[in-house]
Amino acid sequence: MDGEHQNAFTWQPTRAVGLQRLQDFLPHAAQTYARLRNYDGRHASAVSCLSPWVRHRLITEQEILQQVLSSWPLQNSEKFVQEVFWRGYFKGWLQHHPTVWSTYHEALPDLIDRHGSSGDYRNAVEGRTGIDCFDHWARELVETGYMHNHARMWFASIWIFTLRLPWQLGADFFLRHLMDGDPASNTLSWRWVGGLHTKGKTYLARADNIAEFTDGRFNPAGQLSEEAPALEEGCEHPRLTGLSLGDPLPATPFLLLLTEDDLEFAASLSSPPADILVLGAAERGSPLATGRVAQTFRNAALSDAALRWADDQSPSLSSEHDIVSRAQSLGVRDVVTSFAPVGPNADRLANLRQALSREGITLHFVQQTYDAAIWPHGSKGFFALKKKIPQLLEQLKIP
Ligand SMILES: Cc1cc2nc3c(=O)[nH]c(=O)nc-3n(C[C@H](O)[C@H](O)[C@H](O)COP(=O)(O)OP(=O)(O)OC[C@H]3O[C@@H](n4cnc5c(N)ncnc54)[C@H](O)[C@@H]3O)c2cc1C
Repeated sequence: MDGEHQNAFTWQPTRAVGLQRLQDFLPHAAQTYARLRNYDGRHASAVSCLSPWVRHRLITEQEILQQVLSSWPLQNSEKFVQEVFWRGYFKGWLQHHPTVWSTYHEALPDLIDRHGSSGDYRNAVEGRTGIDCFDHWARELVETGYMHNHARMWFASIWIFTLRLPWQLGADFFLRHLMDGDPASNTLSWRWVGGLHTKGKTYLARADNIAEFTDGRFNPAGQLSEEAPALEEGCEHPRLTGLSLGDPLPATPFLLLLTEDDLEFAASLSSPPADILVLGAAERGSPLATGRVAQTFRNAALSDAALRWADDQSPSLSSEHDIVSRAQSLGVRDVVTSFAPVGPNADRLANLRQALSREGITLHFVQQTYDAAIWPHGSKGFFALKKKIPQLLEQLKIP
């Protein structure tokens, strides 16, 4: 990381800091990004580090694309623009194949029982395998809540093919500690490395590639597996499910509920809500504890949204009980929330919808225009979506 950027850089989970980070990154979003994005250790000038903010939509994909494409033509910023589309692609893919999440999630307790106290697993998550780069990234993840994309690929590959640990436990380690921990990007990236996403195509971490792209900081020559045989699906092949379209915005007055998946949703609504509440954090989707850094980032992101969207200066995060009593005091029977992508938040909202309906309140899942445009193109490989990027940008009126 160069000195100027390092000094200015902060992971503070507020929309203001995310927007500032985007502004600072704009000059690097074209050629510099394309040339340097694979180098681990130069973060703030080579990659955007925006994922923790986008994960919770403190800033949105649309805002990022809008700013980048107002600064650079698509032909210069294509690489970065494509990466932003990967996030929506993975969400769309998981939405088309929700059993991939449920099967992974249901397998975790048993895998943790079997491997959680084994020496191999403990050494991996505590950074004591003796493979310096891997140990460094394991500790970096726990201490900072961030890991560079290339390091995530090497790490997942070493976990699966050298240490021969179950991919699900590696995905769980990431999801609990990453500030940007995301059910779709994380689960599907781990499956991609293991050869389950693009069937049979795996990612092998090589010592010379690690040495080159860490500027020689690491060189695990002789320590890594030299082969990466594709993993087998432990259960039936993922089923393709039809996409559910969200609900329309109700015509009657409604209460708006913001959640950790979409904290800028209020800005996209065509009619104003009677009031806005921010729901407290969902479970992270693991029987094990969430990492301190990731937990702090998420809670502070929720508080930032509550402070910006709620009227009072010391807003608290809401529970089911608060939603019912606020709706009753306002005399509204409709609550609106952003259509949540597959994951723990969507599961909890499905339960909440049932609980509210018992109180005579309807919870509406309204889909963001961006998601409605991208998700339908996520049923197959990324290449199919990539070809549609110019058309999708036009449809979304970007820039
Ligand atoms: C094994 C593994 C696990 C991962 N787990 C997560 C996760 O839990 N959450 C998460 O947000 N990303 C995950 N990623 C994707 C990627 O590593 C991060 O999004 C990226 O490193 C974030 O850093 P950045 O903002 O500096 O990215 P940049 O390179 O600056 O990219 C800009 C934006 O594009 C998106 N993006 C970039 N690369 C990817 C990608 N491969 N997949 C999806 N979106 C991408 C992100 O929104 C990112 O903020 C994972 C990748 C791997 C290989």
